[in-house]
Amino acid sequence: MEISIIIPAFNEEKRIKKTIEAILAYLERKKYSYEIIVVNDGSTDKTKDAALEFSNRKISVLDNPGNCGKGYSVKQGFLAATKKWILFTDADLSTPIEELETCFRYTDIASVIIGSRNLPMSHIAVKQPFLRSTFGKIFPFFVRLLLLPDIRDSQCGFKLFRHDAAKKIAEKQRIPGFCFDVELLFLARKYGFIIQEIPVSWSNDERSKIRIFSDSFHMFFDLLKIRWNSFYGRYA
Ligand code: UDP
Ligand code: MG
Repeated sequence: MEISIIIPAFNEEKRIKKTIEAILAYLERKKYSYEIIVVNDGSTDKTKDAALEFSNRKISVLDNPGNCGKGYSVKQGFLAATKKWILFTDADLSTPIEELETCFRYTDIASVIIGSRNLPMSHIAVKQPFLRSTFGKIFPFFVRLLLLPDIRDSQCGFKLFRHDAAKKIAEKQRIPGFCFDVELLFLARKYGFIIQEIPVSWSNDERSKIRIFSDSFHMFFDLLKIRWNSFYGRYA
C-alpha cells in the first residue's frame, strides 16, 4: 500500500514526537511506501523543531503563514501529498495508527473511509469531558439535519482519502476551522465519491485545542456557510 499521512499541528511540541515515532514504527513494520507531512499551523512553541528532527526520514514540514486552522492545514497537506492513499490524523493519535489497516479493508468499495466514534462497534477508551461530549451530541444532529443525513460522526480526526478524491476536494475546500470535516464529506458526496464510515477505537486526550464556546459557535455558523456556498455554486 502507498500512503501519505498528514498531521495538522498547532502547538504540539509535547505530543508530536511520540506520535511521529509511533507512526514511523508502524509504517516500517507494515512495509508501506509512505510519506509523512506535518503541517505546522503557526505554532508558537517548538513543534517545528520537534518534527524537523525526523526530516531525513520521508517526513516533510509545511509552514502555514500563521495559525490558520485545522481545515486550512489539512488542505495544504492534501495539496502536497503524492501517494495513492492520503490519511489525516490528529497529532494526539486519539485514534491509534493501527486503525489504518481497518480503513484499508474498504478500499475496494469506497474512496473516502472515515473513522467513527458513534457506531455500535466503536470503542471509546477515554471519554471527553461533560461539556465537550454534550456538544459532541448536539452538533451531529445539525450536521445530519442540514448537510449529511446519514453520517454518524463527521468529526473524528482520522480520515482516509483516495488520491483523486483528496485532490478534487482540496481544490474546493474553503472552511479553515474545525467544521472542515463536514465540508470534506459534503464535497465527497457532491462529487460522487463513496464514503464508508467505520467504527474505530478512540481515546480522548484532555490537552484539546478546541475552545468549547467560541469554536462551537463557529462550527454551527460554518454549517450554514457550507449550505450557503453550495447554494451559490461555489463548490461546482
Ligand atoms: N490543530 C490545528 N490548528 C488549530 C487547532 C488544532 O492544526 O488551530 C490540530 C491539532 O494540532 C491536532 C488536531 O488539529 O492535531 C486536533 O486538535 P485537538 O487534538 O486539540 O482537538 P480535539 O482532540 O480536542 O478534537
Ligand atoms: Mg485531540
